[in-house]
Formats: sequence, structure tokens, C-alpha cells
Amino acid sequence: MKLRKNRYGVVGNPVSHSLSPDIHSEFAKQTKRALTYEKILCDADEFNSTLNLFFNSGGEGLNITVPYKGLAAEWVDSLAGHAQKTRVVNTVVKRENGFEGYNTDGIGLMRDLKNKGVRLKGERVLVLGAGGAATGIIPQIANESPELLRIANRTLEKAKILSSSMSSLFPEKDISALAIGQLHETFDVVINATSAGIDGKRLPIAQEVVKTAFCYDLFYSQNRSTLTPFCSWATKSGAEGISDGLGMLVEQAAEAFYLWTGDRPSGAEALKRLETKLS
Ligand code: NDP
Repeated sequence: MKLRKNRYGVVGNPVSHSLSPDIHSEFAKQTKRALTYEKILCDADEFNSTLNLFFNSGGEGLNITVPYKGLAAEWVDSLAGHAQKTRVVNTVVKRENGFEGYNTDGIGLMRDLKNKGVRLKGERVLVLGAGGAATGIIPQIANESPELLRIANRTLEKAKILSSSMSSLFPEKDISALAIGQLHETFDVVINATSAGIDGKRLPIAQEVVKTAFCYDLFYSQNRSTLTPFCSWATKSGAEGISDGLGMLVEQAAEAFYLWTGDRPSGAEALKRLETKLS
């Protein structure tokens, strides 16, 4: 008898570059599960029908990537955890009573930082960017009780809106916004959640800002011998440590896999294999 494979996938545009099928196939091996994981490309006006078709034809769970994390929050029946407030969804879970939207990016980032020995408690933390990724990770960062959290964005207004909604979520925390060009303070941890790296653009930041910091770039390089533009600049600026976001990608996927299946795969093991495959 042929074993039925559970169907999962990632919906986005673009999506062809996604490493998620490799990561989930590694998790499936680890947990001895039979599954398929597909990349699903669609336009914004096809987003709802794409999800309806996927689940009506037996799909079990979806990841959502750029630029549809906001649309996914509208599509699901309910939101869980911080996604209730941020309305940024990267994981759709099929429940008995409907579809539930989660955001696993923040958990993924925290796990990868911990794997790298970086703690945020009591630290001065800077997040660069105020888009979907920044919105998804900031509640988790605030939860770790940094001494202060600054959100700097090219468009100041967007940083202010994000900072104000996060301050209402965490009224006791020191959270504020500024324009990316106005940065002069030093930080202990700097997290780049802008998409500037995709076009190879350099951010207009003074070197002092990262000189005493561990610098983490959510963007990652699929060529493991090439640093991302932000990591390369941070190294030249004297940063105390750097990492790109490949580990976060794996750890956010591990959390999604757990939500779908109840099995917790090893992110560290999957990351090791992915690094080897890409190098
Ligand atoms: P969005 O399009 O939602 O936001 C983009 C952000 O980048 C905005 O704050 C934008 O500023 C800023 N930005 C873009 N270009 C520049 C530039 N040239 N100079 C300064 N700021 C710039 O994207 P996302 O938030 O979804 O994604 C951000 C990054 O995070 C991407 O590189 C993505 O690949 C990565 N990511 C990685 C994950 C992982 O698991 N490793 C998970 C999720 C995302 P403005 O508001 O002024 O336009």
C-alpha cells in the first residue's frame, strides 16, 4: 500500500529561492514523517483562492513569506500569540475548528541568538527596519527585557507607528523610534531587519553604532563563503560578532513544523546539513 504523504508548502512572490523545502525535508527525515513541501507562487489577487485550493485539496499546513504575511492574517479564522496584535502571519495551522495564524519568526530569531550565545536581557538593542520582519520579531525581543529597544527606519513615520504599537503592548519597556540616518548611540546588539541587502545596498549608519555590538542580519547569503552586505560592513566597522539569518530561517521553520506535527525537530542538526549543502 502506498503511504499517504502530508502536504505542506510556502506561499510567496518571489518564492523560487526558498530553502524551506530542503529544511522541512530534513525535519521529515529526523522525525521519520512522510511529507511533501512545495513552493507556491501567486499574485496578490490570487492569494485567498490559492490558500482555499491548497487546503481543500488536502493540504495540512502553510508557511507564508514576502509579501503576503499581512494578507495571511486576514485569511485565517483566528490569530495566536503576538500575531493577534501584530497581524503578521508566517505559519497557517489547520485546527479542528478552523485555521489559526502564527508568527514563528521571533521565536526563530531568539533560538538562533541563544544558539550563538547572544542574550538580550539588560542589553541595548537596535532593530533596523520597520517592515513585516521587524514587526514579527520585536514582541519577542521586548519579551527578553533588554535595557532599551530602539527601532530605526528609513521612513521615520513607519518606525514611530511600530514603536507606538509595541509600547502599548509592552508599556513598561523603553521602546522608541528614530530615523536610520539619526543614529549616533552605541548598542550591544544590532539586528538588521531591512531588505536593503537584497539589492546589495549599504545602510547609512555611522560605524560607531555597531563598534561594540553583536550584529545580526535577518537576510542571509545562500553562498556561504560570501558575507551579506550588512555583515561585511559590520565586520569592517569592528563589530564584536556577526551572524546572518540562515539559523533563524531554520529555527522559525522548526517551530512551524512543531505546530503542524507536534514533533520538535533539531534546528541545529538541520542547519549543519544545510550549511554543508550550500557550501
Ligand atoms: P518589508 O518589505 O516588509 O520591509 C522592508 C524594510 O526594509 C522596511 O523597513 C524598509 O524601509 C527597509 N529598507 C528597504 N530598502 C532599504 C534601503 N535601501 N535602505 C534602508 N532601509 C531599507 O520586508 P520584510 O520586513 O518582510 O523583510 C526584511 C528582511 O528580512 C528581508 O531581507 C528578508 O529576507 C529578511 N527575513 C529573514 C527571515 C529569516 O528567517 N532569516 C524571516 C523574515 C524576513 P522603508 O519603510 O523606509 O521602506
